[in-house]
Amino acid sequence: MMEDFNSETDSDYTSYWRDWFISSRGNEYFCEIDEEYLTDRFNLTGLNTEVPYYQYALDLVTDVFDLDADDELREQIEKAARHLYGLVHARYIVTTRGLAKMLDKYKKCDFGKCPRVICEGHPLLPMGQHDIPNTSTVRLYCAKCEDIYNPKSSRHGSIDGAYFGSSFHSMMFQVYPALLPEKSIRRYEPRIFGFRVHAPAALARWQDQYREETRARLRDAGMETRFAEDSEGEEDEEDEEEIQTSSARKEKVAGDAASGRMDLGN
Ligand SMILES: [Zn+2]
Repeated sequence: MMEDFNSETDSDYTSYWRDWFISSRGNEYFCEIDEEYLTDRFNLTGLNTEVPYYQYALDLVTDVFDLDADDELREQIEKAARHLYGLVHARYIVTTRGLAKMLDKYKKCDFGKCPRVICEGHPLLPMGQHDIPNTSTVRLYCAKCEDIYNPKSSRHGSIDGAYFGSSFHSMMFQVYPALLPEKSIRRYEPRIFGFRVHAPAALARWQDQYREETRARLRDAGMETRFAEDSEGEEDEEDEEEIQTSSARKEKVAGDAASGRMDLGN
């Protein structure tokens, strides 16, 4: 099958199409889809109606393209091949193999780092807000602040979000839960000449108190929640903990919310 490509005129162009695609500028978010995955028809179900010149596009992606086409047609087939690759990519990256490949890229920070200062350069994951093509462009998800961002570069900013899909990033953390960062209670505090600005400070106090109340409720329900900040001074709190009665806990939650002291309860 591999020998079928037109080796006289465009061998560099038609062979190793995926290598070329992956290494092209702007395509850094994509991983290479395995040959076996691409040649299993089951994995491509339904895509023949989604992609124009489907068979030619597939031939191009799998390096068996052999057609004497003029430049214009070639251009259209090339475009179709990129679209096909993207749509298969969305399916591939939620498979075990695909997740592992994307994990490698994630560890190398291939998708960039979170622009939020308090996230301290946490690596991002590409994702789509929609699974239907041409609906929205690719976004980047930060697991630390649990928010999504637009890519910095316009090359990345024009990639279809459906080439990554709306489930991939969540799937990644299901399969590799160790990747999930610890929750943090740190946040930015606006100040004027060193004094906390009143409205955000009032909101922050309310949030602190609400967080404590929620944690107390979760604890009563037998669920533990942890924040990255909990480990600070953990040792000291443990002894104190044992003598605390449940009524004392309630009091502490109501009265000591803003100080950031946490009852670890384990
Ligand atoms: Zn972030």
